[in-house]
Amino acid sequence: MSPYALELKNVTVTYQDGYVALRGVDLHVSPGEIVALLGPSGSGKSSLLRGVAGLEAVTAGQVFIGDQDMAGVPTHKRGCGMVFQDGQLFPHRTVSGNVAYGLEHTGRSRTQIREEVAYWLDLVGLPDYGDRAITTLSGGQAQRVALARSLARRTGLLLLDEPLSALDRELREQLAVELREIITAADSSAVYVTHDHDEAETVADRVVYMRDGRIT
Ligand code: ADP
Ligand code: MG
Repeated sequence: MSPYALELKNVTVTYQDGYVALRGVDLHVSPGEIVALLGPSGSGKSSLLRGVAGLEAVTAGQVFIGDQDMAGVPTHKRGCGMVFQDGQLFPHRTVSGNVAYGLEHTGRSRTQIREEVAYWLDLVGLPDYGDRAITTLSGGQAQRVALARSLARRTGLLLLDEPLSALDRELREQLAVELREIITAADSSAVYVTHDHDEAETVADRVVYMRDGRIT
């Protein structure tokens, strides 16, 4: 049994044009641990997350989620949820419909899905928002819904790529505190990408620094 929720062993990501965005990175995340990846723009933070999620091919090294080697495993079977900066919600679905997305076709009854959606909306502080249209939400509310949708799948591992970057400073500071509380309450591990030092310190148990495709 792996003691880690996520482990990267000597992982390299080389893009098709030959650019090496990630250079032999080792990283591990314990169950329930929140690790922040902090580094300047272009340092390889998103490439690392995308490599873990299977959105980018890992060209050398290995990614393990729990005990499982992710080589050849497609994104939707990797057991990780992702939250991006913005624009990830389905605009034609309600708030509830978005959170329910990952719960459909899992053998759950409609009642069960309704109850679980209510639970997650409550946890992210939007208990009465289920019937709202996505277009009526503020930026902060939309990010809460995206978080609820990812957590609802209970994958145990969350990958967040600058989820607060599109928000203004004050809201960012407040939501960073809440994000930590929510991820902890959900009993999830997380890799939290940011270029903001204060945000990293607020959200994470441990901060890892990246530069030029390496962890420093
Ligand atoms: P960060 O998230 O830390 O800003 P990225 O992982 O997005 O960094 O990018 C790391 C480097 O890889 C950057 O120099 C970027 O230009 C380059 N890069 C990102 N995506 C591609 C791609 N599809 N093809 C070639 N180079 C890329
Ligand atoms: Mg990035």
